[in-house]
Amino acid sequence: MGEVRRGCLYNQTMPELPELEVVCEVLQRRVVGRRIEGVQILPPGGPIVVRDLTHQGFAAVLTGALIRSVSRRGKFLIFHIQTDGPPVYLAVNPKLTGRLQLAGPTAKRRAKTHVVFQLENGQQVRYIDQKQMGQLYLVHDLQTVPGYAEMGPEPLEISLEDFRDRLRPYRAAGGGEIKEVLTRGEFVAGIGNAYADEILWEARLHPYRKRTQLSTGDVERLYTAMRVTLLGAVDKVRAAMGENIDEKPRDFFAVHMKTGDPCPRCGTPISLVGADQRITNFCRTCQPGGLIKGIR
Ligand SMILES: [Zn+2]
Repeated sequence: MGEVRRGCLYNQTMPELPELEVVCEVLQRRVVGRRIEGVQILPPGGPIVVRDLTHQGFAAVLTGALIRSVSRRGKFLIFHIQTDGPPVYLAVNPKLTGRLQLAGPTAKRRAKTHVVFQLENGQQVRYIDQKQMGQLYLVHDLQTVPGYAEMGPEPLEISLEDFRDRLRPYRAAGGGEIKEVLTRGEFVAGIGNAYADEILWEARLHPYRKRTQLSTGDVERLYTAMRVTLLGAVDKVRAAMGENIDEKPRDFFAVHMKTGDPCPRCGTPISLVGADQRITNFCRTCQPGGLIKGIR
């Protein structure tokens, strides 16, 4: 059962900070300074994923415009676009099922390709989304993108002091389980279900420990683990992904999606709690924290 689960869920996990950071690097190399010659929105999924908050026409605004730069913020990829009029931003939030792809003009178009940006050098940036869960927002002001203004700081930019201060308001009464807090975009931006498991394993903290039960040392270890895990993952993703930005290499994970495999640190079979997109994997030896219903 573990194998089946892993196989079917592999492609349904959300890209998080490390993957999007590397996608951003590749796009900076490959598309910055290029002009967009044409935009194709492909029904039936296209109109669902495209959100034109400029109300001037998604394709109309972008056609002929220049990609000035590409950046990442949380789980958004931001294309900074120079037009004849005021500058615009294309904010891509791929969510669970969206992917960007770089392709030559003759490369076979994959199923569920919903938007195609034709660049002046013949290259195409394609947006693929199996379930039309992601969004491509076209805006004049990034703060108008839903969920953007509420985002917390970047986990690789926050100081230990700020991390500690931001953690403090999360009380057990409102949930306050440490994994749940880590994945909240308003706490820090860019960590999702998969990397939260990896970070907590690195920190040797049980995912269901309450924030209020963490000692000063625990919080410091969590902060360090967050940095070490994310920075290490960026390097590993960069090495594995190459220019194939539609891929999401995660073979290097220690615990997430590794149910039943030996813990890389102590050899205990990795435990699983939950189902579908909210699964939690951890090592019950390295991350002690009491018995929890539902552990397999
Ligand atoms: Zn272990």
